[in-house]
Amino acid sequence: MTIDQYANRFVCDLVAYEPGKPIEETARELGLDPSQIVKVASNENPLGPSPMAKSAMLLAIEESHIYPDGGGYNLRSTLAKTLGLGSENIILGNGSNEIIELLCHTFLNRDSELIAAKHAFVVYKLMATLFGANYVEVPDPEFTHDLDAMADAITPNTRLVFIANPNNPTGTMVDQSAIDRFMARLPEHVIAVFDEAYIEFPDSPPDTIRYVREGRNVCVLRTFSKIHGLAGLRVGYGIAPPHLATLLQKARQPFNVNAIAQAAALAALADTQHTENTRQVNREGMAFYENAFHERGLEYVPSHANFLLVKTGNGDELFREMLKQGVIVRAMSSYKLPDWIRISIGTAAQNSRVMEVFDALRPTSVTP
Ligand SMILES: *Cc1c(COP(=O)(O)O)cnc(C)c1O
Repeated sequence: MTIDQYANRFVCDLVAYEPGKPIEETARELGLDPSQIVKVASNENPLGPSPMAKSAMLLAIEESHIYPDGGGYNLRSTLAKTLGLGSENIILGNGSNEIIELLCHTFLNRDSELIAAKHAFVVYKLMATLFGANYVEVPDPEFTHDLDAMADAITPNTRLVFIANPNNPTGTMVDQSAIDRFMARLPEHVIAVFDEAYIEFPDSPPDTIRYVREGRNVCVLRTFSKIHGLAGLRVGYGIAPPHLATLLQKARQPFNVNAIAQAAALAALADTQHTENTRQVNREGMAFYENAFHERGLEYVPSHANFLLVKTGNGDELFREMLKQGVIVRAMSSYKLPDWIRISIGTAAQNSRVMEVFDALRPTSVTP
């Protein structure tokens, strides 16, 4: 007899999310110097946090004894202004992952369905499972979301359709015409969730905010974890029409985003220099890897984000071997891609180190 039998079945069934391997853990396990480890496993910003955000954090520390502004007034109104919307359109989250959870909390139960693409971000499946809902997976030919097929999959029980754009881990993006076609077919009982964690990286991203403005059942997710370099602070947001945002606000904890994160995020929004530098480093790094994989005759998925998938054969093994050399990449077996690894774009020095280690190991790990 164990307590497990009394736990909710969907919690017992859950396979926990496996994040990129932390630098400190790798250093401990392998007896390496943490400063020598290159982590290119979680799509973090290789330039670090926005410098303006760092200064704002130092100031915010002085007020750490005061509870944060639970309503997130300054950050929400600034975000709203930037988007040409009102504060009532913005909900802050402890990372945009929290908004995913709030959406599921609000709309899913045992009778409902969540639709996502076959190689979509795994958190959608975890959350659907956690709330006991049915997870419906739609094929994504060429690793790209097939929005027509996703619209076809909608039933009377569907509540949420998740579209990660660009998608993680594939880096692929759907364009405006596919989105417009999808939105023209979206029934009233379904919410389209556009997860735009990487939307600042492509040169001409599609516009989904227009559907928020029109009051459609749409929630756009964005984050400070990627382009702004604040993944460690956990701050993201949802953009939705007021009727939807108001519902989500009810489902959150009163102080879900801490004061230091709010101050840092606000400052990061103004730091266009850091954003531009990040995009530049990413463009150069992406070109470096595309060229490297092309030269080596390796298949990769052209990416619109700050990472890319490359087909190496036995990704788990290559991950373990690269780890021993102090390079942390992401194995993709949990994404049903056992022959692939995902590499986040780093600084020029990091990218060179990754390829150096990759080349030294490749003869043993690549199946011809
Ligand atoms: C990184 C990422 C996020 C961001 O998560 P946070 O909780 O904001 O750190 C969201 N969606 C996708 C698809 C991601 O890859």
